[in-house]
Amino acid sequence: MPIFEYKCKHCGHKTEFLEKAGGSRKHSCEKCGSNNMQRLFSTFSAGSSSKSSASDSCPTGTCPLS
Ligand SMILES: [Zn+2]
Repeated sequence: MPIFEYKCKHCGHKTEFLEKAGGSRKHSCEKCGSNNMQRLFSTFSAGSSSKSSASDSCPTGTCPLS
């Protein structure tokens, strides 16, 4: 589930929203209620497939580099 961070252009309050991929629903600031929100960036919550997390330890104990 992607997480989108929005910043309110009205008061500067930052809020993170969970959205489905491709979603384009409008968000409103929880502080001032303004709809003038700017999307800053998106991250992905833990649990998605990432092969890099297994590279720092050998899963079988027989890797020559370890
Ligand atoms: Zn606001």
